[in-house]
Amino acid sequence: MESKLELETILLPGVESRRPVVIAGPCSAETEEQVLNTARELSAIGVKIFRAGIWKPRTRPGSFEGVGSVGLPWLQKVKKETGMYTAVEVATAQHVYEAIKYGVDMLWIGARTTANPFAVQEVADALRGTDMPILVKNPVNPDLELWIGALERLNRAGIKRLGAIHRGFSVYQKIKYRNDPQWQLAIELHRRLPELPIINDPSHISGDSELILEVSQQAMDLNFDGLIIESHECPARAWSDAKQQVTPQHLKMILDDLVIRDAQIGDKPRTELDELRQKIDLLDKQIIESLAARMKISESIAKYKYENGITILQSKRYDEILQNRRQTAVQNNLDADFVTKIYEDIHEESVSRQNSVMNELQNKK
Ligand code: PEP
Ligand code: MN
Repeated sequence: MESKLELETILLPGVESRRPVVIAGPCSAETEEQVLNTARELSAIGVKIFRAGIWKPRTRPGSFEGVGSVGLPWLQKVKKETGMYTAVEVATAQHVYEAIKYGVDMLWIGARTTANPFAVQEVADALRGTDMPILVKNPVNPDLELWIGALERLNRAGIKRLGAIHRGFSVYQKIKYRNDPQWQLAIELHRRLPELPIINDPSHISGDSELILEVSQQAMDLNFDGLIIESHECPARAWSDAKQQVTPQHLKMILDDLVIRDAQIGDKPRTELDELRQKIDLLDKQIIESLAARMKISESIAKYKYENGITILQSKRYDEILQNRRQTAVQNNLDADFVTKIYEDIHEESVSRQNSVMNELQNKK
């Protein structure tokens, strides 16, 4: 379906001029002291928009669910003292009213909320008649229509200062990152809504303070407009998302290390060819990462076979793989022989890996 949003280009006056726009602050507001200390340090390194979770959507009950409205006056103090804009997550109409009452400057809708059209509609209705800037995180599941749908609901309620936050997608299997970036979805969002600013959230994608720089760099190379990064005066003591938060000083190092490349080729806008090539590069990276994950599993299989005294080559299984992959190829409009050739190579490599593992185990005995 065609999507068209009526947008205003300025999200917040005075912060849009240079890439990346940076939003930083703790995952959660915990105490007045923690909020103010962190805010002072962030302001000192030049951050203009301060984030803090007041109401926290947690996967399981019983963990810290945010301080609630008592934290809002702390954000007012941040504004007064540092001049930074403030931003919080909202998920209900009540959150919206409270945030507006305490002069919060920008709101975001969390990934779990974006996945729920009833909740998004409630938030949109509560915002009717305001000109609050709203950022919409991608839903937890990789569904672009759901993401765009949330933006449309807000736009139809008259919200024109809109942006998106790309925070990655939940996956069941273990991957390098906490959430799978699936960059192609953000790229496709940009293709569908070229005027919409897109902010990357390397904190929730990576889940690890050591990986913030590499994810941020990738986002900048894909021409994202900004970054939202969780920063805490003392990450080790954070009440939520401790592993992924960085100190304001660490954040400064990350921002200093980022290489911001020019999106323009001469005076011409980025060409379609470049966008297509970027998609190819990303897909190739994913193919290689999948191959690596597959080989790792082969090695575990080798261990199992060794321990249970089974041969490496199980011809029936190999036949099944080839038949099944040929079918999948045809279902996906690929030539079956082409895919068979690739799987012959993959299988050969997998057998050779299994051989090495078995030999190693045997030699250890
Ligand atoms: C957050 O920004 O702290 C948060 C809860 O993020 P998400 O909705 O992306 O999980
Ligand atoms: Mn968080």
